[in-house]
Amino acid sequence: MSEHSKEQLVIIGSGPAAWTGAIYGARANLFPLVVEGVGSRTMVPGGQLMFTTEVENYPGFPEGVTGPQMMSDFRAQALRFDTRILSEDIVSVNFSGRPLALSTSKGKVIETDTVIIATGANAQWIGLENEQRLAQSGGGVSACAVCDGALPHFRGQIIAIVGGGDSAMEDALYMAKFAKEVVVIHRREELRASKIMQERAFQEEKIRFEWNKVVEDVLGDEVISAVSLRDVRTGIKSELEVGGLFVAIGHTPNTDFLEGQVDLKANGFIETPVPWRTETSVPGVFAAGDVMDDYYKQAVTAAGTGCMAALEAERWLLMEH
Ligand code: NAP
Repeated sequence: MSEHSKEQLVIIGSGPAAWTGAIYGARANLFPLVVEGVGSRTMVPGGQLMFTTEVENYPGFPEGVTGPQMMSDFRAQALRFDTRILSEDIVSVNFSGRPLALSTSKGKVIETDTVIIATGANAQWIGLENEQRLAQSGGGVSACAVCDGALPHFRGQIIAIVGGGDSAMEDALYMAKFAKEVVVIHRREELRASKIMQERAFQEEKIRFEWNKVVEDVLGDEVISAVSLRDVRTGIKSELEVGGLFVAIGHTPNTDFLEGQVDLKANGFIETPVPWRTETSVPGVFAAGDVMDDYYKQAVTAAGTGCMAALEAERWLLMEH
């Protein structure tokens, strides 16, 4: 990246939407710059797929593929063409004038004609003080079973998983490999997960379900020892002794750095007002993947919207220049 020349297309993110946008943008000779992020405990370059074991529903991989391998291949494919990569975060944007301006975590300002926002979404927490305390201290509470679940202190323990979606089922099945027992705590008596994942979880004899229950507190000083549960129907409280807690209750889109300069939907995802388009409320700014998709949330749909965003950016540049 030259610090002074203006970019045609900057892509913020590094999941399937970002790399697909880069492949299409590069092949359209837009020389895209991908700002892939620096990574933290909960988010790494490559996005949520870095926290997934086997991806079995992405067409073209009849034997399945691991999430990290898939992201490494996507990145390599983007690099094969004229994609450049910056391993920094975008911390703020200025979309009030032209060119669009993006400020990085190392104080650089990138000027560009078009932007694709593909920053994905981050794990949600229940919101309990002790949950956060033990998650931050490594005390057996985590929002990523695939990242943390193989640690020795979870082996042979009773492990609680909160949630009823595919992530919760995947985490439960993963933890069943190490745990004495896995207890899925769900706030309803019906799972949101796909039928195939439900069936796998029901068939695994180490997994049992606590229906209609919510976690009200997480107990333990340095390491989790139990969770306090409340039955949402009867109000009856109970305690479940556990050696680990994995929270798998969905994700929040990563939009803080936009500071209100792009319109969001009521649920916080970026608004793309025109059906079958990725354009946002700011001309020249497009959104792709989990940061705008609150409905499908799949790797393949993220890649699809990344492709759409790059084609729209290309057409927008042709119209404007
Ligand atoms: P999700 O489908 O949104 O499910 C979130 C679950 O957490 C729901 O069961 C929800 O309960 C529960 N929940 C939400 N907030 C809660 C709270 N505050 N307290 C207690 N429970 C709460 O999220 P996801 O499981 O992360 O999946 C996201 C997307 O990724 C989905 O489209 C999924 O298909 C996909 N995915 C696929 C795979 C795979 O195919 N291998 C793996 C992981 C994810 P309610 O049901 O009552 O709302």
